[in-house]
Amino acid sequence: MSLHSTLKTAEFAFGQSSNQPPILENYNLFASDAALQTAVEVNGGAWNNEHARKFGEILGKGETLELGNTANANTPVLNTHDRFGNRLDAVEYHPAYHALMRIGIENETHSLSWTSEKNGAYVARSALAFLKQQVDEGTNCPLTMTFAVVPSLQIEPEIAREWLPRVLSNEYDPRFIPAPEKRGATFGMAMTEPQGGSDVRANLTFAVKLNETGAYTITGRKWFCSAPMCDAFLVLAQTAKGIGCFLLPRFKPDGTKNAFYIQRLKDKLGNKSNASSEVEFHECYANIIGEEGRGVANIMEMVRHTRLDCAVGSAGTLRRAVAESLHHCAYRSAFGKLLIDQPLMRNLLADLAIESEAATALALRLAKGFDESKTSNEARIFTRIATATGKFWICKRAVFAVSEAMEILGGNGYVETSVLPRLYRDVPVNSIWEGSGNVQCLDVLRAMHKEKESVEVLLNEIKSAVGANSDFDFFVRNVEDELRDTDNLEFRARRVVEKLALALQASVLLRNAPAFIGDAFCNSRLLDNCSSFGTLPTGVDTEKIINRAMPGKMENG
Ligand SMILES: Cc1cc2nc3c(=O)[nH]c(=O)nc-3n(C[C@H](O)[C@H](O)[C@H](O)COP(=O)(O)OP(=O)(O)OC[C@H]3O[C@@H](n4cnc5c(N)ncnc54)[C@H](O)[C@@H]3O)c2cc1C
Repeated sequence: MSLHSTLKTAEFAFGQSSNQPPILENYNLFASDAALQTAVEVNGGAWNNEHARKFGEILGKGETLELGNTANANTPVLNTHDRFGNRLDAVEYHPAYHALMRIGIENETHSLSWTSEKNGAYVARSALAFLKQQVDEGTNCPLTMTFAVVPSLQIEPEIAREWLPRVLSNEYDPRFIPAPEKRGATFGMAMTEPQGGSDVRANLTFAVKLNETGAYTITGRKWFCSAPMCDAFLVLAQTAKGIGCFLLPRFKPDGTKNAFYIQRLKDKLGNKSNASSEVEFHECYANIIGEEGRGVANIMEMVRHTRLDCAVGSAGTLRRAVAESLHHCAYRSAFGKLLIDQPLMRNLLADLAIESEAATALALRLAKGFDESKTSNEARIFTRIATATGKFWICKRAVFAVSEAMEILGGNGYVETSVLPRLYRDVPVNSIWEGSGNVQCLDVLRAMHKEKESVEVLLNEIKSAVGANSDFDFFVRNVEDELRDTDNLEFRARRVVEKLALALQASVLLRNAPAFIGDAFCNSRLLDNCSSFGTLPTGVDTEKIINRAMPGKMENG
């Protein structure tokens, strides 16, 4: 045998690959995320850290991460009828879906903001939702809607008395049965119709009053209704006085099924573990929430909360993508060096890590705004405008950033067995539902118009970091000029909101994150014109940024 063929044989250990990273698993999603810990701490949610740490450990286990893969590979199936032709209208989920729902509910991802009276309860809950999102986005949809429905239910004391104990329960029961045997309850929402989504005033679904106790029947059709196996839904329908908001349960008070017909499931780009359906209501029993004609205002309470979760969720997905890409580069070599040691890759990794921290920091700052809005009108005004601003920007940036994270894994990143294709498919939905990008920007203008103090309150928060970075100071003056110009504001809405979002993220980072993060954000995003990731200017401390973002191993195992 020649020397050449001996070498060849030694290089090939058939059935084994070299230079491939181990799976990123068995690490604590909370304990190894310094950016999240900082954001929780500065926004007042650190009292729940022990819980978040335990939850982060559960979620980071290989078996839990695998539940996310399994629930998305085995998509829900709709059974419209039984074998005899009777309507069933039941969606069958893989057991992994139910396991993830149980983990989410038992860990209070749907309830902590309401069950804890401590300051920072929204922040603490948002951190849990952020962590859970990293394992599976689909189950976060019903968990978010169940969290978000609470303020709308509170509008009607009798409805709140009946439903809140079930909504806030930590018991997950997947059976399709009525109360009282079923104790917990999940909620969905059905607003969108074929002829109008953003413009819900175009809704044709109508309500007929049954009596003076608030009971109605609802007839109509909804074009999108996610998680249709929820126990009840907030539904918009026309009344004699305009649109009303209704609680429509799957089971009527006498325990029989409402004629809630699931016509088909949507074949979606991503968000695969979750079912999204088209439904018809055939004289379904429902109860009104608030007054006829006040439906949009009353469901908006729920929508405001789901918008917060869109921002939190996109930040969570981005964190998972960045963790995967950092991990990959710590193990994979090319051209004689680990990828993580290649200067251009360091630039890209650090740039994505900054984006991820900026998203996390702003999402949790918004959550703090919800906490403070309970007692402060100024906080309420800030949160109204900042949530639309943050939802627009965080959800949009995450789409680009996740695609870069996928590219960092090279060919592996495009293959389903890495989680990146799933994250890439999942992430755009947060930008579309609960008010798409333009709708968010128009909502910022609406807030400016309706509450004149909005701009001042938002600018006050932004300007509290003035003096910390000269690029930032210059940029803030630029934002103020942009706002002073009131011509063609609707046409310029994205431009205005993008600048506001950047200024807000910069301000939050300069005040709360380490200086090497805040300065790198300002020096790369505010005055520089580069638009792809991996374009940090020289002088940025990539080592510190990468070390801060690197996902660690489980602390005790
Ligand atoms: C996976 C998935 C699940 C969903 N689940 C639910 C659910 O459970 N319940 C529910 O009610 N809905 C649900 N939706 C619907 C979703 O909320 C709507 O699709 C979304 O609000 C947009 O409405 P639309 O599709 O009717 O688009 P349109 O309202 O027609 O909007 C189309 C585009 O026009 C833009 N636009 C609208 N108005 C203006 C304007 N004045 N100026 C400039 N641009 C404008 C929008 O930003 C958007 O980009 C779901 C959607 C998806 C994708």
